[in-house]
Amino acid sequence: MASLYPVSMRRLINELTKLPSVGDKSATRLAYHLITRGRHDGLALSAAIQEAIEKVSLCKVCHFIAEGEVCPICQDERRNRRLLCAVEKPADVIALERSGGYRGLYHVLHGVWSPLKGVGPEQTRMQQLLERLNPERSTPQTDDPLQLPLEELILATSTTVEGDATALYVANAVQSMGVVVSRLAQGLPKGGELEYADELTLHLSLEGRRSL
Ligand SMILES: [Zn+2]
Repeated sequence: MASLYPVSMRRLINELTKLPSVGDKSATRLAYHLITRGRHDGLALSAAIQEAIEKVSLCKVCHFIAEGEVCPICQDERRNRRLLCAVEKPADVIALERSGGYRGLYHVLHGVWSPLKGVGPEQTRMQQLLERLNPERSTPQTDDPLQLPLEELILATSTTVEGDATALYVANAVQSMGVVVSRLAQGLPKGGELEYADELTLHLSLEGRRSL
């Protein structure tokens, strides 16, 4: 019985169950591994978690993962600053970078509009995207690399119902801003997440993107 474990072990198990996809059984197995065979790895893991939490946060411009205020992609002056690609999560930036087919900037939404799961646009970074795109925004951020007028916004949300709904919502919201809005071409599996698409498929779907 779990209650027979010492308090510190129960605390470790309890903290592990707070992680996504970790239930009681997995948490107990992990805790048992860490305090028996994985003691050294456990200490290294603990130090890595602490260091990452202290140093890493979200880029204040594009909301990708960054050490410091602005991420290397936003700082890179060789990138095409007239092209902006909105994605659901940081892993999608990595996938698109790996495809080699994109040299513009990004905006990470950190979620999609999903009314059935109770996630509204305000729980994602959609508003921040609209503020970045609106030249008449009331509080301009001088460090936003999108200082040139934007030519195209690529909506690279997943081909799920929520991903499509999010793309449509953003497309409608930016309609009056004079920006070309496009969506990645079909070819990505329906219901598929960008993160898991292979590099060639991503490359081709970027090349064949269509206007909305
Ligand atoms: Zn950034």
